[in-house]
Amino acid sequence: MIRFEGVSRRFAGAERPAVDGIDLDIAAGTTCVLIGPSGCGKSTTLRMVNRLVEPDAGRVLLDGRDVAEVDPVRLRRGIGYVLQGIGLFPHRNVAENVATVPRLLGWTRARIADRVDEMLDLVGLDPDAYRQRRPDELSGGQRQRVGVARALAADPDVLLMDEPFGAVDPVARDRLQEEVGEILRRLKKTVIIVTHDIDEAMRMGDRVVLMREGRIVQADTPDRLLAAPADRFVESFVGEDRALRRLALSQAGAIAVPGDPGDAPGVTAETSLKDALALLLSSGADHLAVTGSDAPAILTLAAIRDAASRRV
Ligand code: ADP
Ligand code: MG
Repeated sequence: MIRFEGVSRRFAGAERPAVDGIDLDIAAGTTCVLIGPSGCGKSTTLRMVNRLVEPDAGRVLLDGRDVAEVDPVRLRRGIGYVLQGIGLFPHRNVAENVATVPRLLGWTRARIADRVDEMLDLVGLDPDAYRQRRPDELSGGQRQRVGVARALAADPDVLLMDEPFGAVDPVARDRLQEEVGEILRRLKKTVIIVTHDIDEAMRMGDRVVLMREGRIVQADTPDRLLAAPADRFVESFVGEDRALRRLALSQAGAIAVPGDPGDAPGVTAETSLKDALALLLSSGADHLAVTGSDAPAILTLAAIRDAASRRV
């Protein structure tokens, strides 16, 4: 578990603190996304967890222990860190990059080689094809996959990701968010992700923390942030289309009801309500067949409308 207690940091010469009295709990095994306008203090907050930045007030606790009491080098070996684009060592091949922390920890060659292959498999890169490549022989998306593999190689409980997919084209980014999110949930890592991409925040966060000028404006589940923005700033940040964003977070199976679908177009129970709505509108049907369960089920336009405006 990660806890920020009254954490502040002002950089020399700055008018106001970059981070200004933050209190935040991040439960073990969950993903917390820090989001907000450029310069609001997201990266500074993140970097205080692995002591790349020191607070000048308050404490950051990792499993109950003040990180200020832990040797920074030791601390960082136990925390995975993924940066935008530039994170990999350019003159080392993929295997050497992934092996960085296991080597520092003194693992045997054989154990490292096994682990490198396991990690490359995990992030969807064929070890035989990619082990020997250098970072400049990879696409942006592949580089970020290697970055994630490297960060996870020594099996840290905590992972810090600073705009991890910022340098990746939109199509690859969608897939990466999906796949990496799935990996992190499965491995039950405690994760902090910094982003300014609201879709990424909604897709990857168990909780989303919206910051402004060094302070937390709202910390909530994605659904609550969209359904009940705390103020106008949050409302404008999450966007005019927040009803649609909420629909993107829910699946057809959740609001399907028993009924005879007739010859209505079909969706699976996992289809997002946003995609289901698009299909309803484009097909002109007033309901859809929800396939995949034993009993026939339908999804109606009215049910989608209720889901979009449901209070939480
Ligand atoms: P974000 O990640 O939300 O864009 P940062 O945490 O990087 O914001 O920065 C918050 C503020 O602190 C900004 O005004 C930035 O210019 C300043 N800042 C960040 N790092 C440093 C530093 N090492 N030295 C001086 N000022 C910094
Ligand atoms: Mg930043």
